[in-house]
Amino acid sequence: MARHTESVCRLCRRENLKLFLKGERCYTDKCAIERRNYPPGQHGQARPKFSAYSIQLREKQKVKRIYGLLENQFRRTFAEAARIKGITGETLLILLERRLDSTTYRLGFASSRAEARSLVRHGHILVNGKRVNIPSYFVRVGDVVSVKEQSRQMTRVLSAMEGSQRRGVPEWAEVDRDTFSGRIKLLPTRSDITMPINEKLIVELYSK
Ligand code: SF4
Repeated sequence: MARHTESVCRLCRRENLKLFLKGERCYTDKCAIERRNYPPGQHGQARPKFSAYSIQLREKQKVKRIYGLLENQFRRTFAEAARIKGITGETLLILLERRLDSTTYRLGFASSRAEARSLVRHGHILVNGKRVNIPSYFVRVGDVVSVKEQSRQMTRVLSAMEGSQRRGVPEWAEVDRDTFSGRIKLLPTRSDITMPINEKLIVELYSK
């Protein structure tokens, strides 16, 4: 699978926003945004001019980076959101939140979405007791997402669960830390997504 090979902190600096891509480090003063809050590269500190198109593009890039998707994956999710009745931008964000990798992260079993994706891909995550190794799987109300019993003592799972106490669990889910499992009580709504995102700009971009 293609993936970003540059430092993920550069992505945050490009978006001028903490995207929380590096787990615990994001909460420390080692965070690159805390140290160098300007875009990376030779012209990083120049004052750029923004066109309407570039603002829309940056918003799309930001959301892609938060959820760790490549362009084709993101476009497919957008197309799916556009097919569903409702407000396309909001539906897009809700679909992204419902991805199994994102849910695994939000339940606290991984310290970042990238780590969650790796756990899912390597078969450490179960949905309703069955292994699901597809990060783009959309969770549904009533699904129980858990860490496979043999994987519960993995250092990265344990340290993620410890660190996740700071993040808390979203309203739409409940976590049983003793059984390393979480139940989806409700589907997430737009108001559950607290990152500063203007999804209308993405819809405008893809509607051209
Ligand atoms: Fe972004 Fe985290 Fe790196 Fe800070 S530490 S720049 S929030 S990935």
